[in-house]
Amino acid sequence: MTIALDIKNLQKTYRNGTIHALKGIDLQIQSGDFFALLGANGAGKSTTIGIISSLIKKTAGSVHILGYDLDTQANQAKKSLGVVPQEFNFNQFEKVEDILIHQAGYYGIAASIAREKAAFYLKALGLEAKAQTPSMRLSGGMKRRLMIARALIHQPRLLILDEPTAGVDIEVRRLMWQFLQEINQRGTTIILTTHYLEEAEQLCRNVAIIDHGEIVVHQPIKKLLQHSQRKSFILHLTAPVTKLPASSDHVLFQAMDDPDCIEVSLVKHASLNDLFRYLDQAGLKVSEIKTRRNRLEELFVDLIDQHKHTKQ
Ligand code: ATP
Repeated sequence: MTIALDIKNLQKTYRNGTIHALKGIDLQIQSGDFFALLGANGAGKSTTIGIISSLIKKTAGSVHILGYDLDTQANQAKKSLGVVPQEFNFNQFEKVEDILIHQAGYYGIAASIAREKAAFYLKALGLEAKAQTPSMRLSGGMKRRLMIARALIHQPRLLILDEPTAGVDIEVRRLMWQFLQEINQRGTTIILTTHYLEEAEQLCRNVAIIDHGEIVVHQPIKKLLQHSQRKSFILHLTAPVTKLPASSDHVLFQAMDDPDCIEVSLVKHASLNDLFRYLDQAGLKVSEIKTRRNRLEELFVDLIDQHKHTKQ
């Protein structure tokens, strides 16, 4: 099995070495993988991606893309890579098709072939009707898809996406997921960063978590999800909370901005019956119960805590 991305001892310091954004990252991603790179804000994801895409200069370490050394075989390494950054960085006045054809030109692809490829990706991403539209007239979700088409126009074997579905509605998100799954099945290795655990869960086979410039977890997503120590719910109450029920080791109650709601967090082995018993004791009646959306945050907290304890 070839290695799509091989990072060794990657370090990045800013401001005369005072900010250690990356503290020696080692990461190997197999060819064909669908991989999630997760981390809280400021953990080091964008710095890592910036170095891989040659936008940020590393302080130390090495990066190999599909076996090509980014320092000594930069052209081959760059041809093997497509990157979708967080910010829209195409020319807003250019037409959609022209953006793709010009990008293909950077890789020496003739205009006639580029036109065919552009048509293919625009169709696959549901943008074919927009080929002649100036990109500023696209919706946010369309711009995001255009960024993906542009990153793929030279058919890289490794695609990196920095929060590809941020601010994208459910329908477009699903279309993007389906498209990414298809290209992954056809052989493109994909790495993405995301704040949605559901996205990583749906798409990715393996995952790494960065915390303060270090990889603290690198494992199959299935294993990661088993780590979840808590399950959290939002409870809508029939009447506003006047006094929050007392928390215990099993159940943690937290107030929310809306006084008709409380957040409750249960340890994994606690049952919903335990929860309802506590609510009964506190005289609270529930009209609706929802799973809290961002389980990823909980996982981060649990895993990073565990990592700190194993290091002590
Ligand atoms: P986010 O999810 O917010 O994009 P991130 O995981 O991508 O976060 P980075 O942007 O890689 O995090 O930042 C890692 C660390 O490096 C942070 O402490 C950040 O403040 C610092 N940093 C990033 N860029 C610079 C810079 N140009 N100058 C100084 N410090 C920087």
